[in-house]
Amino acid sequence: MSFVSICEVGPRDGLQIAKTRMSTDDKVAWILSLATAGIQEIEVGSFVPPRVIPQLADTAEVVAKVLAALPNLTVQALAPNLRGVQNAYHAGVHKIAIPVSVSDGHSQANLNRTPAQSIEMMREVMDWLKAQPRKVPVVAGASTAFGCSIDGVVPTAKTVALCEGLARAGVDQIMLADTVGYAYPAQVKEVVRATRAAIGPVLYGLHLHDTCGLGIANAVAGLEEGIRAFDSCLAGLGGCPYAPGASGNVVTEDLVFMLESMGFRTGIDIPALLESRKVLHAALPAEPLHGQMPKAGLPPTFRKAA
Ligand code: ZN
Repeated sequence: MSFVSICEVGPRDGLQIAKTRMSTDDKVAWILSLATAGIQEIEVGSFVPPRVIPQLADTAEVVAKVLAALPNLTVQALAPNLRGVQNAYHAGVHKIAIPVSVSDGHSQANLNRTPAQSIEMMREVMDWLKAQPRKVPVVAGASTAFGCSIDGVVPTAKTVALCEGLARAGVDQIMLADTVGYAYPAQVKEVVRATRAAIGPVLYGLHLHDTCGLGIANAVAGLEEGIRAFDSCLAGLGGCPYAPGASGNVVTEDLVFMLESMGFRTGIDIPALLESRKVLHAALPAEPLHGQMPKAGLPPTFRKAA
């Protein structure tokens, strides 16, 4: 059966609203344990000004240490603008994730620009990257693709139009992101279908949050539509400041358990993933760890995909 690619985004998405700050060495140790578990792609941080997200101020140092320690890992970092992309490129990352909001309210609040200005910026970014000696692919994250905490309903046509603009700007891949976690399975199917009809294989994967407990169900809906790449977060670290008690991204442990059980290979070893959870907990003892399978224990009936 087919391979499903998992990008662990815990060291970025999971940490950005953490109450305590994780030290650089603890981040590197955590990333090493994730790679040891077989995770092949990790978003290790974000190239934003340190005053915006102090938890990620050491991203360049994390990138340097991880590149030296793990030559086979695909090291990804987020960058919100050209300056961030340039810093990420010079730090040596293999792949750059750039967030672009579909909804106007989230775009202004989070990025301080309109979606149309984001497309314009993306053209500049792609032009700059094309002129560099090293090829570094860009994965654009279409944030609030399924709903927005500021604007409410996000029409599918609006998401598709933004993705068309991003594809025309030349991005390599697009992730549809349920940034606030409002998506439900039928909607995931509809948006995936409509987006793929418009941009074909540039639609790469889904970035799902578990705010309302539907992260895994939404992943199944994506799988049924042929999606084979997901972002996820160990222990569902993080969360939405506007949804108390909610977990962050879809939980890596639960997602891998489901995928392997269904016959989708991930290359990830669940017992080793649970060890990585201990490394995370030791580094951030105050953060709540989410995930159903880790709490229940790996069922004895579990067989990994052949
Ligand atoms: Zn996210």
